[in-house]
Amino acid sequence: MKCSCGGEMKEKTVKIFGEMTKVSVCNKCRKELIGLDEAIRAQRKLLPKIHEKRKVIKVGISKAVTIPKKLDPFFRTGDKVIINFDPKKMEITIRKE
Ligand SMILES: [Zn+2]
Repeated sequence: MKCSCGGEMKEKTVKIFGEMTKVSVCNKCRKELIGLDEAIRAQRKLLPKIHEKRKVIKVGISKAVTIPKKLDPFFRTGDKVIINFDPKKMEITIRKE
């Protein structure tokens, strides 16, 4: 693959956030490119694991559970989510649309 500067992009494995990640590095301008799949993989590893006890609260006439602060970057006010309820497990899952 050619870089925009005319140099040659060579694949290399580097540590990003402590994770071995494949990137392409230009042999001329040293620009680094990361593939989308690799970027997503690296980012997933960084996602915080959440296991927290929370209280069901009342918002108007509805019941609500607040989303942990750590997840603020992923759930913005106004985002649409799909709520799934599994009555066997008494489990609610919330998936971003
Ligand atoms: Zn270059």
